[in-house]
Amino acid sequence: MTDFETTRALFHMPDGVIYLDGNSLGPLPVAAKDRVSAMMTDQWGAMLIRGWNEARWMEMPRRIGDRVGRLIGALQGSVVMGDTLSIKVYQALASAIDLAAEQDPKRRVILSDSGNFPSDLYMAEGLIKSLDRGYQLKVVEPEAVEAAINETVAVTMLTEVDYRTGRLHDMRALTEKAHAAGALTVWDLAHSAGAIPVDLAGADADFAVGCTYKYLNGGPGAPAFIYVAPRFADKARPALSGWLGHEKPFAFDLNYRPGDGIDRMRVGTPPILALSALDVALDAWDGVEMADVRVKSIALCDLFIREVEARCPMLVLGSPREGLKRGSQVSFLHEEGYAIMQALISRGVIGDFRAPNAIRFGFTPLYIAERDVHAAVDILADIMTNQLWDAPQFKQKALVT
Ligand SMILES: *Cc1c(COP(=O)(O)O)cnc(C)c1O
Repeated sequence: MTDFETTRALFHMPDGVIYLDGNSLGPLPVAAKDRVSAMMTDQWGAMLIRGWNEARWMEMPRRIGDRVGRLIGALQGSVVMGDTLSIKVYQALASAIDLAAEQDPKRRVILSDSGNFPSDLYMAEGLIKSLDRGYQLKVVEPEAVEAAINETVAVTMLTEVDYRTGRLHDMRALTEKAHAAGALTVWDLAHSAGAIPVDLAGADADFAVGCTYKYLNGGPGAPAFIYVAPRFADKARPALSGWLGHEKPFAFDLNYRPGDGIDRMRVGTPPILALSALDVALDAWDGVEMADVRVKSIALCDLFIREVEARCPMLVLGSPREGLKRGSQVSFLHEEGYAIMQALISRGVIGDFRAPNAIRFGFTPLYIAERDVHAAVDILADIMTNQLWDAPQFKQKALVT
């Protein structure tokens, strides 16, 4: 059994804060400051450029990729770190489109849903436009995805957990359906990695991508990851053919030749400071069973829903009621959601707001316990019952919500 009081002590939490936004930005691991500082002194400072070899910086994207891989059911050697999630979406989709075209050049539909994060849809639009081969991005309602998978679809591009509602797609079933229809799959695990058990190999997913600053606590702007199924790793054409994805970067060839396997998904110089912060953050997962995380996450979310519905009848549940159909977050809807969230934050309960009307709360068993849920609901109930959100200072929209 995972000991969640032990993992809780691994994270820094400011006094007076109940942090229910680890689904957007995970908290600072206590060990990160010393580790990154030591890295700066002992490696960057002392070794200078020799660090690429002596401190094995160049291998970090692969080594850390394997650490993330363990949490998402990927075989060793099939995940690599780098860039941001938006870039990785572009890369995965471009490779998937090419492979799909080899199988059946007539297909023109890239299928996604309206619960996807806009950046994924924007990246797909941009890619389709620059390919100029007549691809069409078809966006259906999340519930209509399964029925929309047919023999016109080249690639499905889906985010497993809806960032607004927490609704969970059935990765295994949709992948199976896509494959049966002759399509390839790209899965975005932004709200899955570190939140729920993921079994990429078991689900037979083709490509997957995700970020590490949400449930994996790698810090603001931490590098993203990409997974390529081993069967495609040596076939996928890298659309972003940077020098570090080259077979021999230090041969400085004038022509691009893709590297072996997942290495070809590397683009440019890896962010070593950010990777070392992520490396410490991943230590928190040593000895943690994803199945235990899932059980506790569902219990925390269920408790929150039950308490909020009992004490704040003016809030409407915006997430699936059934635990197994959700990720690790819960949303409630209210037309004054923005002001309600600002009032909560002013009282130390940090969640976030997603337009047009959702207040969103992430439940992260590594450092959130039942007592936090009770304390957060006490404050939310006070704000709702006494309409404390109805004050001008809570209605001023900030740049980041
Ligand atoms: C958080 C998130 C992103 C953010 O992409 P970045 O490039 O890291 O800013 C993209 N897609 C999904 C589904 C997300 O949840």
